[in-house]
This record gives sequence, C-alpha cells and structure tokens, in this order.
Amino acid sequence: MIKENSPILTCITDIYERYHHINEGNVATYIPELAKANPNLFGICITTPDGQIYQVGESEHSFTIQSISKPFVYGLALADHGVDKIMSKVGVEPTGEAFNSIVFDEENNRPYNPMVNAGAIATTALIKGKGYEQRFNRILTMFERFAGRSLSVDESVFESEKSTGHRNRAIAYLELNAGMLEGNLDEHLDLYFRQCSILVTAKDLAVMAATLANNGINPITQQQAVDPKEVRAILSVMASCGMYDFSGEWLYRIGLPAKSGVGGGIIAVLPGQFGIGTFSPPLDARGNSVRGIKVCEELSQRFKFHLFDSHPVSQTCVSRSYTGAMVSSKRQRRIFQRDFLDKEGDKILVYELKGDLYFATLEKLTRQLQSNQKQAQFIILDGRRVGNVNSSAITLLSEIKQWGLSQEIILILTGFEQKTQNRLQDNGWTDEMFMENIDAALEWCENSLLSRANYDDKILKDQLALEEMDIFKAFTQEEMTVIAPLFTEFSYQPNDFIIREGEQADRLFLLAKGRATVSLKLSQNEQRKRLTSYIPGIAFGELALFDLNLSQRTADIIADTEVICYVLKFDNLKTLLTKHPEVYIKLMQTFGTTLVNTIKRATLEIRSLSV
Ligand code: GLU
Repeated sequence: MIKENSPILTCITDIYERYHHINEGNVATYIPELAKANPNLFGICITTPDGQIYQVGESEHSFTIQSISKPFVYGLALADHGVDKIMSKVGVEPTGEAFNSIVFDEENNRPYNPMVNAGAIATTALIKGKGYEQRFNRILTMFERFAGRSLSVDESVFESEKSTGHRNRAIAYLELNAGMLEGNLDEHLDLYFRQCSILVTAKDLAVMAATLANNGINPITQQQAVDPKEVRAILSVMASCGMYDFSGEWLYRIGLPAKSGVGGGIIAVLPGQFGIGTFSPPLDARGNSVRGIKVCEELSQRFKFHLFDSHPVSQTCVSRSYTGAMVSSKRQRRIFQRDFLDKEGDKILVYELKGDLYFATLEKLTRQLQSNQKQAQFIILDGRRVGNVNSSAITLLSEIKQWGLSQEIILILTGFEQKTQNRLQDNGWTDEMFMENIDAALEWCENSLLSRANYDDKILKDQLALEEMDIFKAFTQEEMTVIAPLFTEFSYQPNDFIIREGEQADRLFLLAKGRATVSLKLSQNEQRKRLTSYIPGIAFGELALFDLNLSQRTADIIADTEVICYVLKFDNLKTLLTKHPEVYIKLMQTFGTTLVNTIKRATLEIRSLSV
C-alpha cells in the first residue's frame, strides 16, 4: 500500500481535483448503451513496471474498453501470423480521418491502419481459432494476461452495438467485397463488437499500459502477456494512429504512445517507466476523453514525459581503468614471477564499467580501447556496477568481441548479471569469456602471461629445498647451514588447517610443495572469503615475527593440495641471536624487506585504484 502523502499520489490527486469539475464534452451516444454513462465519473491510475499502483477517483469503476482493444488485438494478430502477413492485410499509416471513416489504402488494397475501425475489423478477422467461442476466448485471455485478472463482457453494450453497428457492418462488407476480409463476416463482426465490450477499469488500463512499458511482462503477475517484438509494433501504431484524428497533435503535445476509446478510457505508455490509465466518459469532437487528454497533457508537461524530451546525454561508462602492472591478482607470486609481471603486466588492461550501457556510452569505450590497444593482450571489462544494458549495447559488445579477435586480444567479462551474460552468449560470447570477478580474471591473465614465458607454476611442482625459498635468495651456504637446523618439515593433507584463526602466532611457514589458500569464515554462514593463495617458494605467517605480543592469527590458511612446509618456531631464533647475531640480523632484514615490498605494492595499488 502506498502512503497517502506519497508525492506521486499527491500530484495525481492535484491533477484530478483540477479537472474534476470541468464540464466539456459529451458522452458517446451512437451506441445507445454508452449514452447511459455518468459524465461525472473520473479516475486516474499510474502503474510502474515494478507493480506500484497510484490511483485516484473512480479508478476501479468498470466501463467498456472499446477502441483501446485495438492495439492489443493487433498484437495478437501479429503473434498469430507474423509481420509480413499482417502488413499485407492492414497498413500502419495514419488516416487523418475519423475512427469510423470509410476510407481504404486503395493502392495496397488494405485498411490504412489497425487503430481505425476498418483496420481493427480486418485485424480481428485474422485472429486464429476454431469458431467464435474459441477465437473470442483467445482474445479475452490475451486481455486477461495484460490486466492480470479475469475480465468479463458487458452484454448489454455488446447487444446494443451489435444491433446498431450498421456503419461497421458496412465497412466490413466493403472489405469483403475488396478481398481485404475472408471468412464468416458475421462472426468477425461479433468478435469485434464483443472485444469492444470487454469491461475494464482505469486501474486495469494502467496495468495493461505498464505491461507494454515493461516489455510485455505484466508487473503484477510477472506473466509475459505478449512478446517484446509485438510490444514495439503495438506502441508504434499507438504513437502514430492511437488518438483518432488527433494523433499527430497528441504526439506533438504529449509525446507518448496512447490509445483512447469511446467508452471514455485512455491508455498512455512511457516505455520502461510507467503506464497511465484514465477514465472519464465525456468525449471531445474527435472521440477522445476530454479530462483524459488534460490529465495526460498536464502530467507530460509537469514531468517532461514527452518521448523526445528525454535524451540522456551520454556519459562515460568507465569508472576507472588500470593495468595488470598497477594492480595484481591476490595470488602470491615468487620473486621472479613478480618481477616479470611488473614488467609485462601492462599487457593486461582492466576497465571497470558503471551506469547504463547503451550505444553512446559504449561508443566512447570503443575509442578508449582502441587508443590503448597497442600494448594490450588482455582486456577485462567489469560489469559489477553496470545498470541497464540495452540491445544496442549488446550489439556493440559483440562488435568489440570481434575487434578483440582481429587484434589477438583476449577479452574477458567479469561481474555481469546472469541475464546480461545470457544475452551476450546469444550474441557469440562464449562461456570461457566470463569470469566471476576481476581478481579471478587478473589471475588468469597473469597465469597466461607467465606460462607464455615459461614462468608458470608448473615448474614449481617438485618440493623445493630450503635454500630455494625466495627469502634465502641472498644467503650463502655457510649461513644456510646455521639456519637449516632451526626449521622443521611438516606435511599436510588437502583441507588440513595449516593456520587457524585465533591461534597464537608463534611460528612462520615456508611453502615447499603444494598450494594453500588464506580465507576468512564469514560469521553468519559457513561460506569462506578467499583472500589469497600461496605457491611454493613463498613465506607466510611471517608478520608475527615483528609482533612482540605474539598475538593471534587473523585468518585461516588451508591446504588446497598435499602441502609440505618448513616451519620456524620463533623460540628457535633465540639461539640464533646469541650464537650468530649477524645471520639473525640478515634474516630479520630480509623478512622486513619483503614486508616493505608488500606495503609498497599495496600503496601503488591504492594509488592506481584511486585515480
Ligand atoms: N465499438 C466502437 C465502434 O466500433 C469502438 C469505437 C471506439 O472506441 O473508437 O464504433
């Protein structure tokens, strides 16, 4: 339920009150039953694509849908036969004539458009099904999908129009004569009269309009009422021909696809944003609800809803970009790998994208990619902060993929929503081009660079000797003979905890074989957040060396594979300090230097990520 003081509700209530008392127009009388309508009834409803309903006045009063049925039945005919067949039977050109005019597109031997009676009768005649009952049932259930509830027919309006609709009958006979119509003419006309007599409320109309705004998905039931390609066709004919011979001026003034009916209803749609339904029986000379037009006009002016008012100025969609030399994956590397990646990392480009992706923002990205392309071998596009991705963006992303192929650049997408991934996969992007997050993609690119240079981890598969550890690179053999006895070798099985969070930090580890991962257990659930992983040659747990309080471990380190470590208990260092102080100092300095390097690297990353 929306609150009474909702700003939107206040606004439409204000508009409702402003036009409630105007006394212009007359209720339709040419269908005798319609003449009974109460001219004071007035309802307004706005529905959003996420199902929020704002309504005021008699928005739940039922009345007959009349011509508002036309665009929807047109959609059903398109779904039944496809565009080509329907186009050959009914055109899409405005007539500039009244809704019940007897004019035809003689050149193409078809009615001008599906929004005038001649076109609507021809459209209804094309609705598939066995016999009257089944055909009408298809029409009714289509409307029910749009309205999100079951609907019924006003039998007296139906009978009233059926017995007096001579002009429509005349139109149908002329069409039969010209070969524009086939089949049982009385059945077609009954279907047409009956579809016009379906009872709806302003609220139903707003939900139906919102369904069109929402690519054919009913915002209340989430049911797909119509295929998106039909939505486009429906909105197009509404925009060009929906408001009788006022259609041109309506588009000019209000700027929304719309349709009105002589029952007093109007629907209007702002694609992607909302649907409006209004109800007020008095009509102007062209057959449009007087109050309905005023409501739409005022809303459009207040909020600048006119389709051609909203022209988003393209912004950049790159929130930041950096290379693999500036930011590296969380994977720990050996010194020779690190040095190599520092040199070669600028072959990896990362673009973190943000906001909506559409033609104009992606066009800017393509220029940026091209200007950086010389060095690039890998491009990571991250979509975690991306909003809407429209169809032209999908097309352009596929062009970018092709361009990547032609330049021998490997493109990787990370963090995109599943539904965007699916659309991209329909457009030629393959599974392996998607990765979960930037870190995983960076690691993958780094590994590729390393393996191209034969620097990959495969060469690290045998157990390393103590003196092969990165930390001992600058140690002499004599120094190593002093150090070696301080270490004890430990083995671990996959999934063993090497370090447990909360444990006292009284030792350091040198990884000699296998792989281990640092992770945090997130308190609420058993899920783990992976922080980094270690490979042979690397030291860990060494921070504690400089912590005089021997504090507790802050994360778990778990063996991914069978692991062998050389472990140094800090207690053992005391003997080293007394017996070989110069080796002790060198060892501490070396560990100190690796920590300094880590901090420097982190500072560089923060700098790169802050620009
Ligand atoms: N059933 C009405 C007719 O054909 C519909 C007219 C309308 O709403 O424009 O006369």
